[in-house]
Amino acid sequence: MAGLDLQIKEFLRKKEEAGLFRSLKPVLQRHDGRIRLKDKEYFDFSSNDYLGLSSHPKLIEESKKAIDKFGSASSASRLLSGSLYLHHLLEEKLACFKNKESALVFNSGYHANIGIIASLYAGQDCIFSDRLNHASIVDGILLSGARFFRFKHNDLSHLEELLKKERNKFKNALIVTESIFSMDGDRPRLKELVYLKEKYDCQIMLDEAHATGIFGHNGSGIAEEEGLENKIDLLMGTFSKALGGYGGYLAASKVIIEYLVNTGRSFIYSTSLPPSIISSNLAAIEIIEKEPWRRKDLLANVQYFRHALNKNGMNIKGESQIVPLITKDNLKTVKLAERIQEKGYWLLPIRPPTVPVNQARLRFSLTLYHNKEILQRLADDLKECGV
Ligand SMILES: *Cc1c(COP(=O)(O)O)cnc(C)c1O
Repeated sequence: MAGLDLQIKEFLRKKEEAGLFRSLKPVLQRHDGRIRLKDKEYFDFSSNDYLGLSSHPKLIEESKKAIDKFGSASSASRLLSGSLYLHHLLEEKLACFKNKESALVFNSGYHANIGIIASLYAGQDCIFSDRLNHASIVDGILLSGARFFRFKHNDLSHLEELLKKERNKFKNALIVTESIFSMDGDRPRLKELVYLKEKYDCQIMLDEAHATGIFGHNGSGIAEEEGLENKIDLLMGTFSKALGGYGGYLAASKVIIEYLVNTGRSFIYSTSLPPSIISSNLAAIEIIEKEPWRRKDLLANVQYFRHALNKNGMNIKGESQIVPLITKDNLKTVKLAERIQEKGYWLLPIRPPTVPVNQARLRFSLTLYHNKEILQRLADDLKECGV
């Protein structure tokens, strides 16, 4: 044991030296897009509460009602007595919202990705995954045992090269991508991906974690915006971001959902989500449908901020509420983030392994709370910090 202790200490010391050590900071208060840590308040640019729904009165009211009716927990897994009618209501609503036949709620987006991929694919299959896909997708692929091919980010000629060479050697094949990439804020060329999946006889899975609630006429996501829901076999997402709640989901055909109820280990072997959060998630979908001004205002502010940064000479990527400013060097990024924190903005340096080596960055998550005045001030403060 002493040996392991020493190894761990050495590991952590090296992390610290390389500017890669991480630690947790307690948030004492959270309101209107601000957080309080110790004795200082910050504008929170690190949260995924894009539409401010986590404090929406309707979500809070519905949570409370569900607690009064069902108590604080579901107290069992879905296959035992934890399948409350609320879970079923949510899944019906979700299937409609996502324009698919059926839907299934998982305990988080992470649970969803590992459960879906590991259940549907195995050793004789292959999976083609965008190099920047989220860790939960990567873990699902590793867990499945399928052959894992990574294609360069949004590089469809690289993908087709791999498909040409490898597809025939395997039984089933999956192409998996995100609809808004979590660290780059950009999107895939979905129509061309669908073309390739048909040409090479694959299924396609789309992770809409950062797009749901924000893109599409009804706020359902990029698949809706591009009218491709019926071409996407596995439409995955989470309630934990713009929907201000918690839990992941898959929208797909009825037979795939039935299969996952029977085989999805992360679905079966975990207590189902508490009634309060399920009711909150139900209310969130209603708000997304009823209050389109939220996503319209957010996207208008996004444009304003991106324009302000460009005007201040900064080089940013993407085209969404996620605004990455690539600063490359780890230590430099850590120092910049500290300077920006001093000015009252809560922003953390994003470093490897979350992003590729030499691609450290500052990543701004814009929410509805960040009005144009705050955004302009931030753009000017960034310039002053020497970004
Ligand atoms: C956040 C995220 C997840 C995980 O969702 P949780 O509900 O937070 O577990 C999965 N995929 C992507 C792309 C994400 O950004």
